[in-house]
Order: sequence, then C-alpha cells, then structure tokens
Amino acid sequence: MADPKGFLTTGREVARTRPVGERVKDWNEVYVPGSLLPIISKQAGRCMDCGIPFCHNGCPLGNLIPEWNDYAYREDWSAASERLHATNNFPEFTGRLCPAPCESACVLGINQPAVTIKNVEVSIIDKAWDSGDVTPQPPERLSGKTVAVIGSGPAGLAAAQQLTRAGHTVVVYERADRIGGLLRYGIPEFKMEKSHINRRIEQMRAEGTKFRTEVEIGKDIDAAKLRRRYDAVVIAAGATVSRDLPVPGRELNGVHFAMEYLPLANKVQEGDLTVSPITARGKHVVVIGGGDTGADCVGTAHRQGAASVTQLEIMPQPGAERNANQPWPTFPMLYKVTSAHEEGGERIYSVSTTHFEGSAPEEGQTVGNVRSLHLIEVEFKDGKLEQKAGTERAIPAELVTLAMGFTGTDQANGLVQQFGLELDERGNIARDDDYATNVDGVYVAGDAGRGQSLIVWAIAEGRSAARGVDRFLTGTSALHAPIRPTDRSLTV
Ligand SMILES: Cc1cc2nc3c(=O)[nH]c(=O)nc-3n(C[C@H](O)[C@H](O)[C@H](O)COP(=O)(O)OP(=O)(O)OC[C@H]3O[C@@H](n4cnc5c(N)ncnc54)[C@H](O)[C@@H]3O)c2cc1C
Ligand code: SF4
Repeated sequence: MADPKGFLTTGREVARTRPVGERVKDWNEVYVPGSLLPIISKQAGRCMDCGIPFCHNGCPLGNLIPEWNDYAYREDWSAASERLHATNNFPEFTGRLCPAPCESACVLGINQPAVTIKNVEVSIIDKAWDSGDVTPQPPERLSGKTVAVIGSGPAGLAAAQQLTRAGHTVVVYERADRIGGLLRYGIPEFKMEKSHINRRIEQMRAEGTKFRTEVEIGKDIDAAKLRRRYDAVVIAAGATVSRDLPVPGRELNGVHFAMEYLPLANKVQEGDLTVSPITARGKHVVVIGGGDTGADCVGTAHRQGAASVTQLEIMPQPGAERNANQPWPTFPMLYKVTSAHEEGGERIYSVSTTHFEGSAPEEGQTVGNVRSLHLIEVEFKDGKLEQKAGTERAIPAELVTLAMGFTGTDQANGLVQQFGLELDERGNIARDDDYATNVDGVYVAGDAGRGQSLIVWAIAEGRSAARGVDRFLTGTSALHAPIRPTDRSLTV
C-alpha cells in the first residue's frame, strides 16, 4: 500500500488549468505544463489499495490502478509505466481524454473525493516518454500471417499494436490523410495535442506496423481483394454517421454537422489550412447537443473568436450529486463543467429546435444563410418528451453545429455490403464473443461494433478483438482481452 494514512492526511488536488484569458488565445492543451509533477506522488498516496479495488471494474481496460498508484507514490516511474502498459496501449490518450469511470468506482469516493486516478495515469506516461522508457517492442519472431486493420482510431491502433507484437504482419488502412481517427480530426488540439498521436505512431512503425492513409476500403480496395490479400481483417471503422436534425431550414448555409466543423479546425492546427472555411469568427454560434462533441465545438468556437456561443440540450440539466438510481460504484450522469464551458457561453437545457430561419439567397446561392434558430421548451410527461405550449422563442444563429451523436458505421462506401456483414438490432456490425463477424476471418472492434462510445472502450475492444484474431490465426493466444463485446458500464 502506498501511504497508509494518505487518504486521511492529503486532500484531492487536480491538474491546474491555464487562465481562460490566456488559453482561448491559443490551441495548446488547457493545463499548466508540469503542474501535476509536484503533487502527483502524494495524490497517488491517497489510494487505499482496497482488498477489492472497484476501480478495476470501473475501468473497461481493467487498469491495475492500485499497483501503479503505489509505484507512483514511491516515484518508481519505470515500474509504474510497466504496470500501466500491461493493460493499456495508449495511456497518454486516456489520461487526457477519459471521463474516468474508474474514479466514479473508487472506494474512497464513497465518502471522500476519489483518488485522482486519471491524473496519476497521465503523469506516469508523460514521465515515461520523457525518460525514454517508452521504446518499440517488436516481436521476437514473425508468424507469417497477415492482418489488415480498417480504421486508425483507438480501436484499430490497439488491435494493430497487439497483433504486431504477437508476430503478425499488420497493415492499417485509413481513408483520412492522417492516422488517429476521432483522436486526430474530432478531438481538438486544446484537449489533446496531436504530437501525442504522432510519437505513438512512430513507436508502432518501429515495431513493424504498416500504415496506408487515404485508402478507403470499399471504394479504393474492395472487400474481396482485401480478404484474398490478408489472412484476417479487423474492421475498426468507427460509427461515423452523424445524427441529423430534419427540421425546416436545415438546408441553410451555416448549419453543419460537428464533424464537418471540427476536422477543419484541426486541419488549421495541422498546418494544412490558414483559416477554416467554416469559422465562428464574429458569429453567433449555436451548438445543438450537450455531450463531449458539443463541448469541443464550444471550445473551438471560443478560440475562433465567436460573438456568442449557446449550447442546447434536449434533456434536463443533470444534478451535481449522484441520483439515487446511479449509486456508487456506477458512472453517474452529473452536471459537467468542461474546460470549454469554463471559457464562456450559455447552456440551455430541456429545449428542442423547431426550425431555422435564414436570409434570402444571395446571387450565386441556392439557399440563404442561417440567421436564427427557433426553440421550444420540452418536459418529460409519462416517460415521453413533450413540447410546452407557448414557450417557443428565437435566438440568433449564424453558425449552427449539430452534435447529437452518431448512428453507426458508414455504409455509403460499400464496406458492409461488400463483406456481406450482418448488423445487430442497433445497426452496428454484429459479432460473436470472439469479436468475429458472420464472415470467416473478419473481426470488428470499437465504435463500429459497440456503437458510439469512448476511447477507453475502443482500446479495450481493440485489445480483445486482437486476441480473437490471434486465436483464429494460430489456434491459441496469450494476448490480454479485458472485455467481452456485450460488456457495458457498471449499472445497478
Ligand atoms: C468530437 C468528439 C469528441 C470526443 N471526445 C471524447 C473524449 O473526450 N473522451 C472519450 O473517451 N471519447 C471521446 N469521443 C469518442 C471517441 O473519440 C470514440 O469513441 C473513439 O474514437 C472510437 O474509436 P474507434 O477506433 O472505434 O473509431 P474512430 O476513432 O471513429 O476511427 C475510425 C476510423 O476509421 C476510418 N474509416 C472508416 N471507414 C473506413 C474505410 N472504409 N476505410 C478506411 N478507413 C475507414 C475513419 O476515417 C476513422 O479514422 C469523442 C468523439 C467525438 C466525435
Ligand atoms: S483508462 Fe479511464 S477508466 Fe481506466 S484508469 Fe484511465 S482514466 Fe480510469
């Protein structure tokens, strides 16, 4: 156990963020660089090393949290990194971006603020990179088997790294021009600087994983050809089809999916564009959707110099405390103030959009520009969402982003049809307990199989699917499989 009295003598302290006025002028991560180092060992010392560490179950990767807390407390960063990597390929992603269901399940959290598990995780991995502890781990011998991974988000990357290290020759196909999936073009730089992805890719290349960008399976290479060329295929293509809002005025200029808006802002940061063709500068911005994607639009709009930013959510505002039906150790729905919300803007709950209004089309335009959004208050009655008569009003809207979630894997490129894949009742690619689809040798991992989820689940799926593939190719596997396809967050 780290410090037997740590949880009694030390209060919870988290990473400090830079002043709002400073950070909205740049795109760097919002945290004060180095602010965790002086405090993190004592924070790790708050871990009680419980007999039954519920945090293990809270974390889909089954991260060995009390073990690395102990090493972090003793400042044995190298051992901490080894324990961390035993279950997590990319702790620099989760340590920055995970909503930390482990902390909701921390036993200390029953009557005190939980251990800052996520902060300890990111400190361990940042130290490990700085000290040169993260080195390529190429396989000792090759199996002679080949695997194609479709999609380079966290699920595809985790599957690829596991399978490469198991000795298989792995090629990752990505339709975008850079590797990373939503980590690259969804999540903004201020939440995670992309240099973290780049150095992981370098490690993976040095281990032997090959990457092919700007190749869309289904369009550029058809499924039959891919199956002929490889012994196994892992589909990690994400759930990239955005949920639409089919109300009058949707067709107006200035109404965009979040995933049309955010990638362009990320491309500016990559140096591909000087100004985003969809910018919030000087505009009244409305973000529809109260989740992570919506918050990323809010933070991006602030940095682009929006005149105002309003975020709408159809559900009621969650409370600051756990609901009775979401007790410890479940992951509760709580009112969350992200760094983007600290930076300004208004959040309106329990409202639904009825329509948009716009200007008359200018010369050369077929539709006008959005000018306002009409909303109406809604409430739950007998389990159904109903509009409250007489509450309709209009708010100014010159840029609207739709961040209402995703409906499933892209089928427009023929991927699903060409492979002949069966879908489940939610429209995701169906798989068995080994992550195998109905097509021999074709596996599925991440949002493509689970539906829209989180990075930690995607990595866990990638690791687990890799074990299924390894067993298919060799008859046995020593790879770690943290979750079954049907596993979900802890609930009562
Ligand atoms: C804006 C945004 C912010 C988010 N923020 C967070 C967060 O803070 N924390 C968190 O835990 N989760 C967050 N999420 C969710 C998280 O990013 C996803 O759950 C996760 O990335 C899913 O990983 P994946 O590997 O399954 O798919 P993805 O990351 O979606 O990657 C799939 C990849 O497959 C590629 N692809 C698709 N079809 C083909 C094809 N036919 N051929 C070749 N390539 C193909 C796509 O281009 C894409 O790069 C966020 C999501 C969004 C949209
Ligand atoms: S990956 Fe997420 S859930 Fe797991 S230990 Fe890290 S922050 Fe917690």
